Amino acid sequence: MNSREKIRAVSWWLTWKDLQWPDDDVADAIERRADAAAEAGVNCAVIFGAHFRWDYLPLWDNLHDLLGTIRGALHRRGIRLFDHHSAVLTHRYSGIEEARAMRTFNKHHIPFAPSREVASTWTFHGEHLNDWRMIDITTGRPVFLKAYTAEEFCINNPGFRRAYCEYVKMLVSASGIDGLMCDDGFFYSGWTSCGCQWCRKKFREEYGHELPPVEDLTFWGNYSSEAFKDWIEMRFASTREFLEAVRSVLGDGYPLMACCSSSANYEMAKFALTYQEFCKPCNYIMLEMTGNTPELDGCWNRHFPEQALHLGLAAEYGYPCLGLGYGYTETTADFIWAFNQFLGSSTWFSTLKGRLGLPDSVTSRLKDDPELVGHAYNWEKDHTELLDGETDTETAVFFSRWTRDYYGMTQEDYGRDYDRCCIDLLDHNITFDVVSRIPEKGKYRVLVICSAICLDDSEYAALSRFLADGGCVIAGGPVGCRDKRALPRPEPWLSRYGITCDVKEPERPASFPPSAGMRPEMPVCTGSFRGNRVSHKEWIRTEDGSGSLLWTPGRMQSDSQEMNLPAVIRRMTVSAIDFPGVSCRGWRFRRFRGRNGQLILHALASAFEVETMKELEKQRKNPRGNHLISGIRRKDSSSEITLKINVPCRSAKLYAPMAGFEKEIAIGKDGEVHLHLPEHVFYFILEFPSCES
Ligand SMILES: [Zn+2]
Repeated sequence: MNSREKIRAVSWWLTWKDLQWPDDDVADAIERRADAAAEAGVNCAVIFGAHFRWDYLPLWDNLHDLLGTIRGALHRRGIRLFDHHSAVLTHRYSGIEEARAMRTFNKHHIPFAPSREVASTWTFHGEHLNDWRMIDITTGRPVFLKAYTAEEFCINNPGFRRAYCEYVKMLVSASGIDGLMCDDGFFYSGWTSCGCQWCRKKFREEYGHELPPVEDLTFWGNYSSEAFKDWIEMRFASTREFLEAVRSVLGDGYPLMACCSSSANYEMAKFALTYQEFCKPCNYIMLEMTGNTPELDGCWNRHFPEQALHLGLAAEYGYPCLGLGYGYTETTADFIWAFNQFLGSSTWFSTLKGRLGLPDSVTSRLKDDPELVGHAYNWEKDHTELLDGETDTETAVFFSRWTRDYYGMTQEDYGRDYDRCCIDLLDHNITFDVVSRIPEKGKYRVLVICSAICLDDSEYAALSRFLADGGCVIAGGPVGCRDKRALPRPEPWLSRYGITCDVKEPERPASFPPSAGMRPEMPVCTGSFRGNRVSHKEWIRTEDGSGSLLWTPGRMQSDSQEMNLPAVIRRMTVSAIDFPGVSCRGWRFRRFRGRNGQLILHALASAFEVETMKELEKQRKNPRGNHLISGIRRKDSSSEITLKINVPCRSAKLYAPMAGFEKEIAIGKDGEVHLHLPEHVFYFILEFPSCES
């Protein structure tokens, strides 16, 4: 398995009708839909529906047979089927109003759910399902998730873990599915979970602490408390251990992934949600694009830093990355596909009709997923050599997990610096990879590290090694002043190079829930080099052997303009292509190397006018989330583009996949490439087949 494996996935939606199985009409519908998927160039379908799988316990045999039948129909057409369900959530409602909320907002789950009374009698292998529930630390009662009208089973409950592993064994052997997306194995309710006896026992036995009541602020939200940091560590570890148990049932190499739309935000510690843990047991990376792609204001870059981290993990581990975007029209399917190619990811396109808050009589008029992607997927099938390359870059941006986990109590503490750094580089057309580990000098010559105040001992050593081996470290703000757990280091990393760095820490009062009411205040960084004060606008440079360290006390979130990080990176790297600002206005570029060594440039317009289906939007009972986008048009972007290529190159070929044309482009003696792009072209690819690096 390698990350070049490109997946062209759609959701395979189950509906209430499918619960009639075994049934001839359902069987016919499966064949027709499988035909549509094959015609659309789909090579993988992912089950959506029957989502809260434990609620289907009385129907499992029928459901697994249905999945096996779908798999059979798809296999005959060379398409794989992955199952996808929530391992831990169950719909639970009290009274008809909660039932209505469950059915209105979660229709896409097919929210078949027992009454609370019946649920309390359900058992599996002699254990009551209710005994597995997560317990709310504040109330001592089972966790209730209002947004989903749901309860959650605890991933640390040994009975539940055993039972779920039994379930997975049964599912795979009865249905023959080719892969599994195992959702929600984290602490959905945030800091209020989990106070069950098993989580408490684990904390006592593995970490040596009793979990105190929420009034105890020497523990809760106290980032000077090692015990509280142990709690953070244990919750993250629990999510990995749960998926490791699932992996042990599936065996090595079997495709396994888990839902995750972000691993970068400071709030992830609250949920113990990060793909950095999932990467050990999982071998497929999810890159979920929640909401609209593009957004209603026509942007698509807000989640780019989070996506870049998942792409980085995919590259580090050599796993395929699956970019899941939601839409209802061929226009959005085209855009989501193009955006994924621009990122260098595989695509999973999905509708999400059940979330719209519209009756089935209305949503049934919208097209099914395979009908929307044929345009894009068939183009991909015919041009794989342009789309399965690796990023062509020598620049890496480091994401510091420990700063996020043990220091970041607000987004201002660290997350905003990381985000700004990624977006600045994107906006200046600097192709880069995000790395979650400090690399050895090899592919990367330049390592950017912004406000990563916590470095563990191995990161500290690796960063020094990267420099000593001739790498260039471009560091902004506080870097390596603290250890993994955010304790001050006697020898901060920067001090090794003659830099003194002081951070004015904002007040950080302990509270429950942790960081509640915290002011979003940035820790200000000041510093000096060899005794001379350095301003926020200034970069100092020092050499270590053949390596260079550039540093400024500036922080990306407040000082990015003066710091001008893109210019600093350009000075330290050799770019094969120049992007003169004006003549490339409104376009974003990323560079790749194809498997034949050719240079490939992907370009996507950066802003759009977005149209929605206004009449249907008005009828929605759930106005939030994903919208019915019907049209997009690029705006504020040039139609005449001039690039300059700085290495000898004989020819170029232009591809406009969505517009359906390709043509040879002449390269001028001075390396200039002129392009004329019709208004409807919002994405294009330039291939330079004979270009040296
Ligand atoms: Zn628990």
